[in-house]
Amino acid sequence: MFGLGRKAGSTPDGQWLEREGDRFWLPWKRHAKARRLKLLVGSNGPRLTLPPRTSEKAARAFVAEHTDWLWMQWSRHADIQQSPLSIGAEAELPWFGQRLPVLWQSDRALHLLREESHWRIHTSVRSSDRQLQAALLQAYRQYGQGWFLQRAQSYLPELPKSPAAVRVKPLRSLWGSLNATDTITLDVALLFAPEPVAEYVLVHELCHLLQRNHSPKFWCEVEARCPDWRDHRDYLRAHGPGIKAEARRLFG
Ligand SMILES: [Zn+2]
Repeated sequence: MFGLGRKAGSTPDGQWLEREGDRFWLPWKRHAKARRLKLLVGSNGPRLTLPPRTSEKAARAFVAEHTDWLWMQWSRHADIQQSPLSIGAEAELPWFGQRLPVLWQSDRALHLLREESHWRIHTSVRSSDRQLQAALLQAYRQYGQGWFLQRAQSYLPELPKSPAAVRVKPLRSLWGSLNATDTITLDVALLFAPEPVAEYVLVHELCHLLQRNHSPKFWCEVEARCPDWRDHRDYLRAHGPGIKAEARRLFG
């Protein structure tokens, strides 16, 4: 579940916290082994851990009790998130719903690598923040293209044709598009969203190879391949503006 939708009777996925016009999303995660309610503000953002059988009411009361602490932690965290990427400065980069710390290393040339739990960025004495920004965009585009192409493979056998190309680049308002010559373009900021959300946008564009419209027939094709598409659409409605703003901050 990645959306804000919830199934009847189940625990919500999280809650919005608001104060003085600022707000953030606090995800709730149930853990079979958790013994007590726990609030955490880690490099992936804030999170509430719930032991099995904790009631929604008890969870909300716990959060209300710790709101001041949470806001203090959150503003510290947000300071790191909101400053532009600068060589050598403490930073975290979004990666499919997580935030990965940046490890800086001196080298002879600017070079970026995404490793399992962090980004490793090699910079030289001649590297500038502007060059870093361009190299970062290039790295995300390249990873993104590989990721989307790989994900597309499993859908191709049931499509009348393959897309002519899959391109990944910054898009101002759209998440994806399919042009008249069957090239799919996807927003590089989708790499900041959880994987099922990014995959939904890919499936959406692939289904336009079957139906070049948003008719009920089109949505049937999407639903057959991605039954949770409504959750992913809701996720993009709720978090999309923040994700796109972060892309503008990082890539210029
Ligand atoms: Zn569409």
